[in-house]
Amino acid sequence: MQKRIYNFSAGPAVLPEDVLKEAQKNLFALPGLGMSILEISHRSKTFDKIITEAKADLKSLLSINDDYELLFLQGGASLQFSMVPLNLMPPKNKADYIVTGSWSKKAVKEAKRVGTVNIAATTEGENFKRIPKQEELKLDPEASYVHFTSNNTIHGTEWYKEPEVGNIPLVCDASSDILHKKIDVSKYAFIYAGAQKNMGPSGVTFIIIRKNMVERSSDSLHTMLNYKIHVENNSLYNTPTTFGIYIIGLVAKWLKKLGGLDAMYRLNKEKADLLYKCIDESGGYYKGHAEKESRSLMNITFNLASEDLEKKLIAEATAAGFDGLKGHRSVGGLRASIYNAFPQKGVEDLVSFMKAFQKKNG
Ligand SMILES: *Cc1c(COP(=O)(O)O)cnc(C)c1O
Repeated sequence: MQKRIYNFSAGPAVLPEDVLKEAQKNLFALPGLGMSILEISHRSKTFDKIITEAKADLKSLLSINDDYELLFLQGGASLQFSMVPLNLMPPKNKADYIVTGSWSKKAVKEAKRVGTVNIAATTEGENFKRIPKQEELKLDPEASYVHFTSNNTIHGTEWYKEPEVGNIPLVCDASSDILHKKIDVSKYAFIYAGAQKNMGPSGVTFIIIRKNMVERSSDSLHTMLNYKIHVENNSLYNTPTTFGIYIIGLVAKWLKKLGGLDAMYRLNKEKADLLYKCIDESGGYYKGHAEKESRSLMNITFNLASEDLEKKLIAEATAAGFDGLKGHRSVGGLRASIYNAFPQKGVEDLVSFMKAFQKKNG
């Protein structure tokens, strides 16, 4: 077996080792079937069991009630930037967007092609280093929905609590923190997440849609862009990403075995606290990008005094088996993505490495 290194990539990202081993074991032939998951029909009994169980396990992990439908679509979270307004904005064609990072901005760009976008708040003027406060939100009472990004993968900020939006349906891009803790799904009308950060491989987008939102999808929409069609066909209108759904199912079972999302959250909090403590106790040697009360538990962004020093750290860290620490080009510096599957030992080892680097280069 190959040795595995610490993978801090923002996405596609680290998956649980147990899941990889299980998938590897079954890749040649699923038990008793004589065929691989990569070879079976999406209309087969075997796949029906896989998708049904994956949905049931996700519903139980997030305590999702029967007011909601779960979908597995394609086109990434990015296609949802278009599908959300196309389906959910009419007939008023007005929506509120809270802009907290690069992904929110991309969502706004597509929504503007459909209707009027009210920027309910933005922290762009402060290079997205914080989440806006409730009192900063300027919501339009006529909006068809309010859209927000629960975790800002690039800037390393996260909402700890949903924005309060009254009776307006709340729509969330949860691509980079879905399943990192228990959330109250009943507060949301629609949640979407590209799987490749915290759920599975790339190629699948997980969606939770409240049933009364499905009624908004107009029959005049293109078939593949219509939520109603996907709900009516249980995500099988066309051939879905069968392998991706299979892996998501394994990840859901891994989370259940671990003790569910409250247990997962405790581990995530511990991991993130370790790294933020190292940053905070470095005497300013490491400077966190996000303000303390907006810090992400998933993507930890920080800088050093100079770009040269950052380059040196990244090169030495890479050589020592810590991969993917380079920050996104729009923020620079470093980013440690420590999603659900990232091991605590990897964070501990990174902290030791950072302390030793500071001692040598301080
Ligand atoms: C990665 C990411 C996206 C884009 O996902 P794709 O699946 O590549 O389209 C959108 N939103 C957030 C918050 C992300 O982290």
